[in-house]
Amino acid sequence: MHELSIVVNIVDIAEKEAIKVEVDNFSLIGLEIGTQSGIVLEALDFAWETGVKGSVLENAKKKITKIQAKAKCTNCNEVFEIESLYDICPKCNSYIIEIIQGKELKILTLEFDSEN
Ligand SMILES: [Zn+2]
Repeated sequence: MHELSIVVNIVDIAEKEAIKVEVDNFSLIGLEIGTQSGIVLEALDFAWETGVKGSVLENAKKKITKIQAKAKCTNCNEVFEIESLYDICPKCNSYIIEIIQGKELKILTLEFDSEN
């Protein structure tokens, strides 16, 4: 499953970060997910439970910030929000557009309780 490999990746990054900051687990992870990243949030939630088991993220709360996808028209340079890859330019109706934002998946923050 696509989403599970994403979770495995995130866990991998978090494990390395945990070693760096010398903590056993994180309390919160903030993720930024673009609306055109191809990630299905429900599937991600499902994969998350399996993927984080026994890891530094097992008890971490997951905070997701959605990034609205935007595209730029290659014809008139208009920048606009898109709902699908097949959206056309609202200004000149061109269908040749370039996605400039919204395909990303980023870890924004990893937080831990300093008391442990
Ligand atoms: Zn245009």
